[in-house]
Amino acid sequence: MNLPFIRQLFSLAALLTLILAVPAGAQEPGKSVLPTTCHASSEQSRTFEEMTAPAMWSCEAEGFRTDQPVGWLRFDAAYWQAEPTPRFFFSRIARFESIAFAAVDDDGTMRTATFAENEATTFAGGPVFRLPLPELRPDTAVLLVRIDRPHSVPLLAEARLAADPLSPHWSMTQMMVLAMVIGMLLLPLLFDLGFFAVLRERFVALHAVMVVAMICYVLFAGGLISLVVSLPVAVVAIAGPLAWAVGCGTSALFLAKFLEVDAQSKQMHILTKAVGIWTIIVPGFFALQLHATQTFDDWLYFYTFMPTIAVISAALVEAVLRGSRSARFVTVAWIPLILASIERLWRGLGVYVGPPELDLLLFVATGFEVTIISLAIADRFFAIRRERDEAVENAEELSRLSERDSLTGLMNRRAITARFPELIAKGFDTFALVDLDRFKEVNDVHGHQAGDAALVASAEALRVRGGRDSIPVRLGGEEFVVLLRGPDAINRVEALRRAIPLHVARKIPGLEKPLTASMGVVEMPRSATGGMTFEDFYARADTLLYDAKKAGRNRMNYERMKIFSEAPAPRSGRRNRAA
Ligand code: GH3
Ligand code: MG
Ligand code: MG
Repeated sequence: MNLPFIRQLFSLAALLTLILAVPAGAQEPGKSVLPTTCHASSEQSRTFEEMTAPAMWSCEAEGFRTDQPVGWLRFDAAYWQAEPTPRFFFSRIARFESIAFAAVDDDGTMRTATFAENEATTFAGGPVFRLPLPELRPDTAVLLVRIDRPHSVPLLAEARLAADPLSPHWSMTQMMVLAMVIGMLLLPLLFDLGFFAVLRERFVALHAVMVVAMICYVLFAGGLISLVVSLPVAVVAIAGPLAWAVGCGTSALFLAKFLEVDAQSKQMHILTKAVGIWTIIVPGFFALQLHATQTFDDWLYFYTFMPTIAVISAALVEAVLRGSRSARFVTVAWIPLILASIERLWRGLGVYVGPPELDLLLFVATGFEVTIISLAIADRFFAIRRERDEAVENAEELSRLSERDSLTGLMNRRAITARFPELIAKGFDTFALVDLDRFKEVNDVHGHQAGDAALVASAEALRVRGGRDSIPVRLGGEEFVVLLRGPDAINRVEALRRAIPLHVARKIPGLEKPLTASMGVVEMPRSATGGMTFEDFYARADTLLYDAKKAGRNRMNYERMKIFSEAPAPRSGRRNRAA
């Protein structure tokens, strides 16, 4: 890693800290975020009466457990003394089976109320739900809460009582930060759609899935969804962690596809993909919070993310060490996310109880991540486009080369055969087959090199003198074809034939004899050329050439085809012109 890159990383970290400091500082003063309750856990058989004994409770802020079928909370009268008498119970959204309250007065009178999960109300103000309390009277000593099958530590640890039914968990600033994060996520989604339309790269589609999952995560886990619809607790409780599992899993799959081919060892590539599928399936399953898995799904949900974090971190380290440019972007994008995930993991596991505002870390890191990854995709997009343009150029260059004769630079037989119909359509209706006379002697007397030079000079004569309306081709050996269009083609091509000995003599002064050429020419009226192939013309011209050779060489033999509207076209205008 080079220095500017590390500096970039630090400035990004500083920026992130600044963003996060805003909501944390905006917290209303004096509002207690730590629970002032006592808690316990037990088998299902335990009753409210048994729980009135003080020895049953732990009043530390830590040590909340969900590995028992029942979680208990105790709010003493001192909790609400300075406040208006609470009428509602609030807690962090997670699945549970039922919640029962018992308001116990000084004289031991008990008012109870029990609610099922689907009776709880979700509302905008954080990922919280609300339940009505039995009446708390001036002589009420304690409120006991029994939560059957609680699925997460925060459900117990973040419970509180309030008089206001809309008592928000989160401040306006925090909700605005969430809304901003959603905004940050929507733009990359549009980018992804645009990129995918052009590139059709799998990693762009994976990134889009990842962004959608992250949007769902912020909407559900942040509680913003309740601004739009009032959903049952179970739906909100499942959707948040499930979206996170799908988002993280897709991130790993994205990483495996996004990194350059040589940025990952084969084993790491397989591991990265495997951990992606694992994350969607395993933590994804625990996100469902089935009652059958209640005693262990909370901590397993968090623990099963550990391989994901470990493999992704290792894959990034490996790729950066291998000099991957994409990996640097992803590292910058994922460091805040990985740190925030670890924090969330510890808090989720109840290692410590932190304020729920800390969730914002993860949300902001998510928005940051998606934005940086979008930049990385844009960067990669241009790199891939550049590579593709170069590949196309190379292919074009290769095909240009494959259409040229390497000695003379003229078009070769392959190219003329392929283009023949197009050229006929463009009016090239005169076909001249040119063969150098007694060329073997040039080789024999002056050597192969002189022979090559004579071929080059002959090609030059055909090309330079021919002009725009003639196309010279080297068919192979000392055989050429010239296609012509326009008036007076026969005379023009005859002039070319005669130019050969002159040009060769000028270029190769030491030649014993002039190097002449013989020629067979076929001229077709445009109306008759339709459907005629190169081979058809060639066969005819070859016969004419053969006759020219037989007649003593250094001459042209031509044939002008005529078409009569009624009868099949008889041949006419056959000439044998010698020099
Ligand atoms: P004719 O007048 O009947 O056409 O006689 P010719 O000697 O030109 O014809 P022939 O087909 O017998 O010989 C063609 C010679 O062209 C044979 C071969 O050595 C030579 N030749 C073919 N390709 C090349 C080449 O690329 N370079 C050189 N130097 N010679 C070539
Ligand atoms: Mg020859
Ligand atoms: Mg020949």
